[in-house]
Amino acid sequence: MDGNTLAKQVRIGVRKQTALLPEPPGLAVIQVGENPASMVYVNNKRRDCERCGIVSYAHHLDEDAGQAKLLELIRFLNGEPHIHGILVQLPLPKGYGSDAIIQAISPEKDVDAFHALTVGKLYLNSGPAFEPCTPAGVIALLDRYEIDLRGKHCVVVGRSNIVGKPMGTMLLHRNATVTICHGSTVDLPSFTRQADVLISAVGKSGLITADMVKPGAVVVDVGINRIDDKICGDVDFDEVEKVASYITPVPGGVGPMTRAMLMTNTLKAAQKYFMRGK
Ligand code: NAD
Repeated sequence: MDGNTLAKQVRIGVRKQTALLPEPPGLAVIQVGENPASMVYVNNKRRDCERCGIVSYAHHLDEDAGQAKLLELIRFLNGEPHIHGILVQLPLPKGYGSDAIIQAISPEKDVDAFHALTVGKLYLNSGPAFEPCTPAGVIALLDRYEIDLRGKHCVVVGRSNIVGKPMGTMLLHRNATVTICHGSTVDLPSFTRQADVLISAVGKSGLITADMVKPGAVVVDVGINRIDDKICGDVDFDEVEKVASYITPVPGGVGPMTRAMLMTNTLKAAQKYFMRGK
């Protein structure tokens, strides 16, 4: 499943929609400290914004700026009319409480969809304003390849708040039967082998081998692992490709879709803002 191509199509759609708005959407991206991976992600987001007709505002705080300063910046951005989405690049350096930071973002600008109100609405299936970007990207890919989830056994490996748990919820809402595995799961292969759709979001290269996959299964690899200078997922792609009916590569699968969904959420935030009459 080709995430690059679909992400490009999503960006083109977003660009068409942003052009119809009275003003371009604004996305504030806050980075604290000098985490090299975060710097790459922030740069990618800026480039995506340019392609989509979204104005990105980069805010960079020193690692020792402190929680109070970061909260002050978020409160300021919450009140800024030309900012429609606010994103704090995670992980934050030691000493910052990411939960308090996330809860400080106005739910109307919560384009990462991590705020408790957004999460609650997602779990209740009561029309959340935003869906978390990575699981939303996975669902968009599955939809694109017309993979019907109704009644399918979907096994999600990983139970984080940003990927595994919302992924499981979104699959449930599409009438799949869902199993969520994690670090304390005993005999992981016995679960993965039952999967019609297997989604791995762990961060361990080589975790999912061909013998753990049912022939014909759909395999989605969310994992990102850096080995020397190369990036790979959790799935042994070369071997699992021979068994699976569909599989996502790393890079070029879920990653670009995650980024595209951030653009979609920022567009939605701006559309809602202008619909409210500012
Ligand atoms: P996390 O560290 O918060 O969670 C990892 C999960 O894996 C935990 O729930 C843990 O219980 C589980 N786990 C650990 N070892 C396991 C094992 N041996 N068997 C089964 N489960 C195990 O990570 P995260 O933030 O959810 O991210 C997971 C991976 O996905 C990482 O590699 C991350 O870089 C990647 N990621 C990719 C994207 C993307 O856009 N492609 C987005 C977010 C995260």
